[in-house]
Amino acid sequence: MGPSRARALLAEGLKSPADLLGLVPRGYIDRSAVESLASLASRLQNAGVWQSGTSSQLSEVIKEVSVVATVIRVAERTFGRSRSMLRVTVAEASGANAALVFWNGVGYFKKVVVVGQKFIISGVPEIDSRTHELTFTHPELERVEDDDEENIAKGKVLAVYSISQKLRSAGVTMRMVRSMIEQTIDEALSAVHEVLPTFIVKNRNLLARRTALQYLHMPPSIDMASAASRRMKYEELFFFQLNLLRRNAHVHRIRNGIVIEPKSTRARNLINTLPFELTQAQRRVIHEIVADMASGIPMNRLLQGDVGSGKTIVALLCMLSAVDHGYQTVLMAPTEILAEQHLRSMQRFIAESNVVVDSLVGGQSKKLRKEAVERISDGVTNIIVGTHALFEANVEYHKLGLIVIDEQHRFGVAQRAELQKLGQRSHPTVSAESERSTVSGNIPHVLVMSATPIPRTLAMTVYGDLDVSVIDQLPSDRKPIRTKVVFESQLAQAYEFVRSQVREGRQAYIVYPLVEKSETLDLKSAVEHYEYLASSIFPDLKLGLLHGQLLWHEKEEAMKAFLRKEVDVLVSTTVIEVGVDVANATVMLIENAERFGLAQLHQLRGRVGRGAEQSYCLLATKDHFKYNLRKNHTVAERAKSAVRLRTMEETTDGFKIAEVDLHLRGPGDMLGTRQSGLPEFTYTNIVADVQIMSDARIDAQQLLRMDPMLTQEAHADVRLQMSRLEESGRFTTVA
Ligand code: ADP
Ligand code: MG
Repeated sequence: MGPSRARALLAEGLKSPADLLGLVPRGYIDRSAVESLASLASRLQNAGVWQSGTSSQLSEVIKEVSVVATVIRVAERTFGRSRSMLRVTVAEASGANAALVFWNGVGYFKKVVVVGQKFIISGVPEIDSRTHELTFTHPELERVEDDDEENIAKGKVLAVYSISQKLRSAGVTMRMVRSMIEQTIDEALSAVHEVLPTFIVKNRNLLARRTALQYLHMPPSIDMASAASRRMKYEELFFFQLNLLRRNAHVHRIRNGIVIEPKSTRARNLINTLPFELTQAQRRVIHEIVADMASGIPMNRLLQGDVGSGKTIVALLCMLSAVDHGYQTVLMAPTEILAEQHLRSMQRFIAESNVVVDSLVGGQSKKLRKEAVERISDGVTNIIVGTHALFEANVEYHKLGLIVIDEQHRFGVAQRAELQKLGQRSHPTVSAESERSTVSGNIPHVLVMSATPIPRTLAMTVYGDLDVSVIDQLPSDRKPIRTKVVFESQLAQAYEFVRSQVREGRQAYIVYPLVEKSETLDLKSAVEHYEYLASSIFPDLKLGLLHGQLLWHEKEEAMKAFLRKEVDVLVSTTVIEVGVDVANATVMLIENAERFGLAQLHQLRGRVGRGAEQSYCLLATKDHFKYNLRKNHTVAERAKSAVRLRTMEETTDGFKIAEVDLHLRGPGDMLGTRQSGLPEFTYTNIVADVQIMSDARIDAQQLLRMDPMLTQEAHADVRLQMSRLEESGRFTTVA
């Protein structure tokens, strides 16, 4: 091997046989699974399944196949000024053809897909309803090299590796990587030892570690390749869960939480005077939280509940309970507007209960801030509502007992810990000695609330250290919001519908996306739309404007005017996403809806349907989306934005929406930032490997029950592997 190739390999971290063994094939070429185009076409013609397909059927509908064929024609078509698509015709020896269609990355594929080149094509085939041709839209392509073809002909299963651009340009091919692995694998495998407990390997029917790593790279069959992959995933998730649980166990052993007895006069009084009955689900989660707070162990609980499920009142009741027992409590919101709303609804609920509420937000005047900070540190304040300003160094809390964080997904895990520490400092110091013996410790309870329902796998991953409560029921007076996609050519009708609702005394939101990252552009967009609507569409209605560039009191003013019904239609950017609660608003028209994420659309829609009236959500999008939204396209081929819109039409269930979102975006994006505490797995796909994740968690729990400190001889290898992983920094992303 020449020096430039060697250098490229080194730069990729491929220094030793062990490094090569650590590569993860991204797929396999399986001779037995390669189907001929001819048989595929006739199979599909007979199957009706490709005609249907809704987002809720996501996993059943997508059936991937692989075919081997040679490119015979490449044609580019352009639409309008800037859109184009690439249509590639491929053929196999039998003479059967198929079309490959690319809507995105046309420039790239034009270079890759050259006439005469043979490819393995993997994807979801369909019969084009117009041309009756066998068609793959955006399939995976793998160049077939001569040796591969021999191997395929011999019926071998070949591992497929991702070869980085750097390696490629240094002349390293996949064939080379494969042959390097073949030559060094025996040496590398001799150093591999089992790390999982024997009982688990047996119960879960896992391949031994050495066998698994061998089959991962050189599988005797495709089934063995997937058994190998399952074993490696399991191992990865087992240690991941073990680490989470051990950490949790560590916290739990120390009984240094603040003890808050369940009985609370103020909470009881509030329940008795509420204008509604708490739902069954609300009562259940209150019990769970109250039990935590009385346990002496610091609470770390996630409260999940869809938009409008009534989390605030649950939080408030728990906060009042803490107040009754002499503790201060904090409610942290992600935005000022939401903090303001919380403040307002608290003041409404507890007007008569002799509780002092203060707020700490960025936009506050110096004077107000100073006064609030004084009351807080003197212990006069019972409840503090705020934003990030709560963190500011000059705030000294006084006996902080409960911290509630709203909309957790906007805060990092680190901030949660930081706030908890801050709270701990607000108590008289407790010596290490008495920490174990006293009744009440000094670590405040933490309740994290999220309206973004998190799919089970993600919750197990990111919030593995949190207990979870779910409000899985909406108050019974709610009518499901009716949602409809409308196209730009029908906008006039949509506006007319808004007008008809206003005529009935209701109010409406019209929402625009951010134009660019730039805030000035955002401002321009909202203002322009506002002016256009005010002059040309609704000259007879009262319009309000809300956007991110307003000062906090201006936003507040705009919202208040809307709340007082001085405004019929509120034109807004996404700043209303969280917060405002106007029960009389029954229509939301979202323009350029294809530009919004699914979670965001769901959040926005949650702003209507807050009262007893029937509410509506109109999602306006470009006319050419009609093509994507046609029912006879399966999910795989639809543009993601079309799936989002269709999903919004199909369901109002936040958990279902979250599942679809997870499939579309992947876990990293879904949680917002990399800091969200999501680990980067080597083998695991968090979306697909739910079952393995939950098996691994159960097993890790069982192991820790049997041997909490992993001191038994039989678990020495487990312990060793844990410390290896710790040293290698494998666990550091999980806070
Ligand atoms: P979210 O869970 O989205 O934060 P909120 O706590 O803001 O929801 O509650 C939405 C609205 O529903 C509020 O106006 C609240 O007062 C009201 N609400 C809460 N619980 C109930 C209930 N059990 N029955 C009727 N309305 C309720
Ligand atoms: Mg809320």
